Amino acid sequence: VTSTTTENWDVIVIGAGTAGIPTALAAMARGAKVLLVEASDRIGGTLYMAKGSFSAAGTKLQRYRSIKDAPEDHLADCLRLTGGTGDQPILKLWLAHAGKTLDWLLDEGLQVFSTEPQKSGPHDPYTTARITTAFPGGAGYVPVLSRLLRDNPATNLLLQTSFIDFIWDNANQITGVLVKRQNGTTDAIHGSNVVLACGGYSANAEIWRKLHDRAHRVHTNSYSKGDGIQAALSAGAVLENAETYLPSFGGLKDLENPGQYCFQSRVFPQYRLPWEIYVNLAGHRFLPEDEFSPEKREHALKGQEGETFWCIYDDKIRRVAPALFAWPEDLIEAAFNKHEDYKVAPTIEALAAACGIDAQTLAATVADFNRGQASDSDSLGRAHMPRPIVEPPFYAVRHYGVSVLGYAGVKVDDRLRVLNKDRHPIPNLYAVGEMLGMGVFGKAYLGGSMISAAMTLGRVLGSEILQWPR
Ligand SMILES: Cc1cc2nc3c(=O)[nH]c(=O)nc-3n(C[C@H](O)[C@H](O)[C@H](O)COP(=O)(O)OP(=O)(O)OC[C@H]3O[C@@H](n4cnc5c(N)ncnc54)[C@H](O)[C@@H]3O)c2cc1C
Repeated sequence: VTSTTTENWDVIVIGAGTAGIPTALAAMARGAKVLLVEASDRIGGTLYMAKGSFSAAGTKLQRYRSIKDAPEDHLADCLRLTGGTGDQPILKLWLAHAGKTLDWLLDEGLQVFSTEPQKSGPHDPYTTARITTAFPGGAGYVPVLSRLLRDNPATNLLLQTSFIDFIWDNANQITGVLVKRQNGTTDAIHGSNVVLACGGYSANAEIWRKLHDRAHRVHTNSYSKGDGIQAALSAGAVLENAETYLPSFGGLKDLENPGQYCFQSRVFPQYRLPWEIYVNLAGHRFLPEDEFSPEKREHALKGQEGETFWCIYDDKIRRVAPALFAWPEDLIEAAFNKHEDYKVAPTIEALAAACGIDAQTLAATVADFNRGQASDSDSLGRAHMPRPIVEPPFYAVRHYGVSVLGYAGVKVDDRLRVLNKDRHPIPNLYAVGEMLGMGVFGKAYLGGSMISAAMTLGRVLGSEILQWPR
């Protein structure tokens, strides 16, 4: 330790992102001396990458649109979507306060798309329109949060400072944190409460493989390295819900950023009905490609070898269908000449060989689809089939299941206290945001849940739960 500060903070918040900033603002509003510790050189965390959807019931925006909704209806709907799974005390705490949190953001100047709220985004729909998406996306939250921090004279923010461990006293209580500064020095900082709001683990390949036993394919914030989760585990916390892992459908290797994954393909019927077929590594179709439920599509993909599929089409489809990729055509053309995931061939058999698929199997799959297309009775029940796959050359593009967040998280109680394996709170330690994992909400992807819960529970923590000596 290079230095020890003498100041004793009421609250030390690790991570100035989605959950951390509302936590800090709410605690400051109650007069707490708060220190925000942030590893990167800017605030906002994953919000810059996020689509920005926020689910909440009983909001002003819903009332303007005469949409009747209440937290109890939101809860019932979440339980419908998850089949009654999830941590109900946490769900209830979040949903009871989510509407007020969105109203607060709107009052503070959050801009949203004029069509909001909606029933669905990229996930299975709610029964009521309760998803509001920030304009122009997740980054739209950042100016509001920045201004609130900047305008508050009590704000103390350390950028480019990484939390590395806890400080314990002789009575086995956490009394602060060790942080590493950009210049390499390690400081000891003391405080009455430590809030882990430093995001998930999805950018950490080692933790990913250990928890999920599969390839590390993600499109996430590079700072989501699981620092908070690892420290919490070493302090006795338990990790739960890794098994709720569900790959997001239709990721690609990023042509513009080698080594990264992205979602530049439009293999989503919500945005573009399919003209192509999708086959697994054995050459079989595994779902009707126009299946509308994201949940069903993701479960179907989870059951395929390598969570991988080839999207197959012909030259006519390439020319007449709405663009399959968000990238410009010249980038795709270049990829067909050199990228391992883009194949073109004069026959289906040659395409199969290029993809490493058994030629007869793929030929039979395509022939079966073409028969179904001609007679309007697809063997998998697909309805949207504008064209057969018959005109050479034939194309195949490899797609992957890719994740945008962490599923497992630390177990907390309904006061967001981090629990140990005996279900006792670890003194002075709290967690919020993706530290809790997506799986805390149950076995389904609840649209707009992560941002909403991160901000809402952060506010509840700061305004109602945390205590400090007066
Ligand atoms: C592409 C994409 C799209 C998404 N779209 C949506 C959506 O539309 N709706 C939705 O609800 N959810 C969405 N999500 C998920 C959601 O954005 C995140 O789960 C949520 O923002 C996480 O909030 P957080 O506060 O836990 O983490 P973050 O917002 O990432 O904040 C954590 C902060 O902690 C910092 N940090 C990390 N380690 C340390 C350390 N050791 N010391 C100090 N600081 C540290 C990070 O730099 C970061 O600033 C999306 C995610 C992605 C990647």
